[in-house]
Amino acid sequence: MTRAAHDPGTPGPGRRHPERRTAAGAPAVVEGWSPVERAGVRILGVRIDAVTFEGMLDRIGEWIEEGGPHQICTVNPEFVMASRRDREFAQVLEAADLCIADGVGLLWAAKRQGKPLPERVTGSDGVPLIAERAAREGWRLYLLGAAPGIAEAAGAELVRRFPGLQVVGTYAGTPSEKDAPGIVERIRAAQPDVLFVAYGAPRQDLWIAKHGAAAGVPAMMGVGGSLDFIVGAQKRAPEWMRRINLEWLYRLITQPWRWRRQLALPKFVWAVVRG
Ligand code: UDP
Repeated sequence: MTRAAHDPGTPGPGRRHPERRTAAGAPAVVEGWSPVERAGVRILGVRIDAVTFEGMLDRIGEWIEEGGPHQICTVNPEFVMASRRDREFAQVLEAADLCIADGVGLLWAAKRQGKPLPERVTGSDGVPLIAERAAREGWRLYLLGAAPGIAEAAGAELVRRFPGLQVVGTYAGTPSEKDAPGIVERIRAAQPDVLFVAYGAPRQDLWIAKHGAAAGVPAMMGVGGSLDFIVGAQKRAPEWMRRINLEWLYRLITQPWRWRRQLALPKFVWAVVRG
């Protein structure tokens, strides 16, 4: 693998490369999409890229070759509703290099517009898939966030699952601004190709947008509770529930304190239907 130079002066999260997006993005060819439209759909103002898991992995590979920081946001209805109240978050989503459809609500809303998205591309399924590709390609991973010990345990579990994987750093850290310089320094020193940040949305996404360029990592993604899922600290919904799109119900039952956050889902549906 050719390691691209990490030049802090190169465009960071906040700048996109529209000229590369359609050609290099390799989104799945979806019937009804013109080549331009394939770049994405807008749902209540938030851009969602029409990309498959495979397309996302290819894009990450290109970023690692190119160098310069890039940001992936895992958009779900909660993100969309939060971005309507939070201007900074809205700007981060707009500037992200890739916004993936991490929520069945987005697939439903896209279909309603006659622009179906190729598939649901979740962060929690994406993390092990990226790790698998990383083991094959020699990409270096850094895991930041979650409760103390979780990132380390998740790193060890990923290495167990994907022998040869290089986890070059793990650190719980905090999303607090005062801790950012120290965290950025740790990451820079480890020289990862891919950084997962588990501080929950929108903090993790704001953190990447703000500090990603200084950290100098080619591919960065906010991953929410994904590290907890990997180590089994949090259980994901069973396969049958995910298949019939009831993952949200499972999370509501197992983490009832999230009910207020989950109100975003009916509000999202209402806002989409109202137009
Ligand atoms: N988290 C953290 N520091 C914080 C707040 C949250 O490390 O200050 C971690 C938390 O331990 C969990 C992750 O952020 O591992 C995501 O939390 P949540 O389930 O709320 O995120 P979601 O998946 O809903 O985005």
